[in-house]
Amino acid sequence: MAFEKLKEGFQGQIFTDEETLSELQTDFGGLVASLPAAVAVPSSIKDVCTLIKTAAAEGWRVTTRGMSHSQSGQSLSQGGILLDMGPLNRIERIGRHSAWVQAGVLWSDLVRASLEENLVPPVFPSYLDVTVGGTIAVGGLGASSFKRGHLVQHVEELEVVTGEGHTARCSPDENAALFNCTRAGLGQFSIVTRAKVHLRTCAPQVRTFNLLYDNLPALMRDCELLMIEERFDYLEASAVPCPLGFKTMGETKVQFAEWFYLLQVSVEHGHTLPHDDRLLDGLRYFRKSHVEDSRTLGFATRHEALYSFWRETGMWSFTHPWVETVLPWRSAGPFIQGVLRSLPPNLLLGGQVILAPLSRENPPLPLLMLPEGERMVHFGLLPAVPRQLLPMVLPILMKASELSIEMGGKRYLSGWINFDKKQWKDHFGERWDRLVEWKRFYDPKGILNPGFIKIAD
Ligand SMILES: Cc1cc2nc3c(=O)[nH]c(=O)nc-3n(C[C@H](O)[C@H](O)[C@H](O)COP(=O)(O)OP(=O)(O)OC[C@H]3O[C@@H](n4cnc5c(N)ncnc54)[C@H](O)[C@@H]3O)c2cc1C
Repeated sequence: MAFEKLKEGFQGQIFTDEETLSELQTDFGGLVASLPAAVAVPSSIKDVCTLIKTAAAEGWRVTTRGMSHSQSGQSLSQGGILLDMGPLNRIERIGRHSAWVQAGVLWSDLVRASLEENLVPPVFPSYLDVTVGGTIAVGGLGASSFKRGHLVQHVEELEVVTGEGHTARCSPDENAALFNCTRAGLGQFSIVTRAKVHLRTCAPQVRTFNLLYDNLPALMRDCELLMIEERFDYLEASAVPCPLGFKTMGETKVQFAEWFYLLQVSVEHGHTLPHDDRLLDGLRYFRKSHVEDSRTLGFATRHEALYSFWRETGMWSFTHPWVETVLPWRSAGPFIQGVLRSLPPNLLLGGQVILAPLSRENPPLPLLMLPEGERMVHFGLLPAVPRQLLPMVLPILMKASELSIEMGGKRYLSGWINFDKKQWKDHFGERWDRLVEWKRFYDPKGILNPGFIKIAD
């Protein structure tokens, strides 16, 4: 590529050296390697426009990169330009109900800054060191999704650069189609440069109850009750194996387990302490374990200890073929029980199995595909797998993914996904044609994020 053409007007940096390119050829998933031809580091939003205008004229492909914490090459570029949004990380303004931020801002920085004003985003992810742009492009789920839906629903306005290099503001009232396809659009139609994120007032402290269940129906019944009654501000659950030994399967022995379920429910409070008995009244856990009191910032960063442990033990650099799927409430129980029954716990290798209730949001987003029903379950098999074990683990995960789709689920698109064109069409269903139209309209040269969603014929 003749990058000389870019020189005019582009104030940022272009890297083509082998070291930089190979450093950025993989993502958190570690399953895909794609070597870009160049890495573009913009110094301003104007640089993003200049880059995209030149790329559209020259036919260069451009993939937008946040922190690359997705897991199957969504933020990688094979032979094209990787646009690193990291440097566009300014929190521009925090108002009484919202914040304007650049797309490369990390949720950790926004949450820290907004909490100084006793404000938080209505939904924030459990891992905060991902970018606002990267989560808007996917959807964003968090512990408050059981009553507030996806994070992207709480984005009020965006500034974007389209596939032709035009800057546009969009919101429900202005350029609504562009707003609709940018949110959860995986960077296919435009690049988010700035976002106005809604903020809500929060209390300074959070109390979290750790409740243990020995059966899934009881957990699901309690989750449903808590979704209806909204006693808590945050709710998350996970499945925890108790490995029991090895059983014979055909010619081999495989590890088997009984599965238990941890429900973590949290309530914000001020000086007046929450009334524990009233909050937990009628729930069917078999044991109340640790009760954690923290400042709201401590709560928002509660998973950091786990992620530090993964880093310290080397699991952070294993492969992560995460299968996350959103299931209809009615099939979640049978699906989860079926999958866990056939999941040897040692295949999880330090990862996690999460199950988080999710409520349907209104109005629905056209590209955020969800199963039917008002209530859903976000289920995730999140293993950390040494590369040499992938041949054994991937077929099990693939089967779980396929079964979830058969049972009416929709895959969450930041994970390990290698859909062919038919599977993509099935995923988007009757919205596929609209997606293709939007692509032609906003990115007529097809330069933005080619490869992951198989749109081109
Ligand atoms: C440990 C861990 C915990 C996680 N926990 C959660 C969680 O609780 N909830 C949740 O929802 N997710 C979670 N995730 C998934 C993660 O939030 C998503 O993968 C998210 O997209 C990653 O953000 P990123 O900045 O790394 O984006 P990237 O991985 O860099 O990019 C993701 C996609 O967004 C596109 N993109 C990036 N920036 C822009 C932009 N400015 N404009 C347009 N498109 C853009 C990319 O091209 C790519 O298609 C977790 C991931 C990890 C590794």
